[in-house]
Amino acid sequence: MTRSITLGPDRTGRTVAIVDGLIAETVDPAAAVVACPDGEIAPGAVCAHTHLYSGLASYGMPPAEPAPRTFIEILEKVWWRLDRALDADTLRASARDYIAKALLSGTTSLIDHHESPHFIRGSLQVLADAAEDLGVRVLLTFGATERNFGRAEAETGLVECGNVEETPLVRRLVGLHASFTVSDDTIRSAGDLCRALGTVMHVHVAEAVDDVEDARTRGYAGPLERLLELDALPIGSILAHGVHLSADQVRQADRLGLWLVQNPRSNEGNRVGYPVNLRHSDKVALGCDGWPADMAVEEAALVRLATTHGDDRAAGRLDAGQRLIAERFGFAATGLNPGAAGDVVVREGGKVMTVVVGGRLVVHGGRLVGADAEAIEASARAEAERLWQRMA
Ligand SMILES: [Zn+2]
Repeated sequence: MTRSITLGPDRTGRTVAIVDGLIAETVDPAAAVVACPDGEIAPGAVCAHTHLYSGLASYGMPPAEPAPRTFIEILEKVWWRLDRALDADTLRASARDYIAKALLSGTTSLIDHHESPHFIRGSLQVLADAAEDLGVRVLLTFGATERNFGRAEAETGLVECGNVEETPLVRRLVGLHASFTVSDDTIRSAGDLCRALGTVMHVHVAEAVDDVEDARTRGYAGPLERLLELDALPIGSILAHGVHLSADQVRQADRLGLWLVQNPRSNEGNRVGYPVNLRHSDKVALGCDGWPADMAVEEAALVRLATTHGDDRAAGRLDAGQRLIAERFGFAATGLNPGAAGDVVVREGGKVMTVVVGGRLVVHGGRLVGADAEAIEASARAEAERLWQRMA
């Protein structure tokens, strides 16, 4: 299907043509035109690591009692209780509300890492359908783990990574939760699956010191070395966090063509530390790890924390996400250059008015096209109540 749309000229005189889902050199005379004389055209933002399943958390999730004191307690008392309670309806409502708000804030690509231990098979298709319906670009994976039911659970999770159907907006990744919740056999299987599917790994690495200590207990120098020695990190793999990687480990990841994703608000909230060594790689993108995917807010947190911690390499991390997306989708360029993804945002006075993803108009006049954000939020609030009951 030919999908041509032309935006502009904007108030700077810029016109952007999108033909067949890509930014084009020349305007298609038959294309639909979105005029934006008061707006400014920019590339859509990329959130390079998040969790669509946590989208209901902002709707009155009961606090854990007593309050978690460590990173592992935060996982055990909050997120692992929430993910065990997910079913198809809660997951769908969570994903749709998260995606709607992402698009309305100008985020056009989400790299998701999913877990729902009691609803594994079919879970990624729920996310893919939400992405297709609302029109956001996604990389999807199931974070395989042995933390609830052992090896069989991990194998089911890995199989699910291959179940999701790829479309122009959807690509699949292979996922592991993290080194510290899987055995060597599961890591080897995950690496084999990457090669079989022709894709890469998406895994949490050295988010907290616990992950590093676990790998050392198992006889490895750290989680990065463990994943590498077990042949599970093809070029282009995505390592979320890397807070407790050394400068040498970050340089090694860079040399091997691995992406790192910094998640400033999450790291600060979980009190796991600031990833000061990420400054030793050029392949560092920005994620929000389940926080709302308004990347201007995430970038502001990055700038604030980078300044405090003497990190002079934070500029450019938001744009690095575009390189990551181009790599996985095979785009020849990034930004507003010909050959880049046709993922474009128009802002007026800072407010997102128009969003186009892959040449499809998905936000117009500051509202979703073909979906009702208020109805999506109402459904999310209703499903959230059901989720809190299931968690209890
Ligand atoms: Zn995460």
